[in-house]
Formats: sequence, structure tokens, C-alpha cells
Amino acid sequence: MKRTARDFALIGSVFAEVGSGRITRAFIRDGRSLTDGVYSNGRIVINEDHQTADTLIHECLHRSHPSWSERYVRRTTSYIRRRMSDEEVMALVGEYKKRARTRKRPVNLED
Ligand SMILES: [Zn+2]
Repeated sequence: MKRTARDFALIGSVFAEVGSGRITRAFIRDGRSLTDGVYSNGRIVINEDHQTADTLIHECLHRSHPSWSERYVRRTTSYIRRRMSDEEVMALVGEYKKRARTRKRPVNLED
């Protein structure tokens, strides 16, 4: 994709905002709206747990049910997520963070 000067300016402005700090990682309780982030009074709060839980459940379903279609895995992931409490999401992501190993090099699917 060819990027324009405006594209570079927009991307640069996002990097500048991240560089200015005032960003907190925290679970956001919002009565089941599954908010991933919020901006207020110059501060940004990012809740990584919902996206992490979605991806984790999705990939776990693929591993435990390899014959299921992509569509059925997506639907079942949504079904499970709608029935999980905030505490269960935090516990699942906490368990994942304890158990997952971190690889420094990217996993390259393009080869
Ligand atoms: Zn999938």
C-alpha cells in the first residue's frame, strides 16, 4: 500500500500521543459493555483483557476442536464471552499471563 504524506502525519501523531505517556493499563468495569479503552481528562486507560480473552478462547477452541469451522469457532467464542463475568475474564487472562512464554522474535506466517 502506498502511503501519503497525510498517512505519515496521522501515524506520527499517534506515536507522539503514545510518547507523551499518561496511559494506564487496567481492567475497565462497565456493566458488560466490554470496553477496550477510554479517554478522559488527558488520560488514556487501556483494557487489554477483553481482546486477550477473545483471542485466547478462540485459539483454545481451535486447539481443542480442530474440526470446527472458523465461523463456528467465532460464534462459540462470542457465546462463551457473553456468559463470562468480569472476574472470570480477569482470572482467565491472569492464568494466561502466568503460563504463556514470550518469544522475542516475531512469529512469521508469511514464509
Ligand atoms: Zn480462527
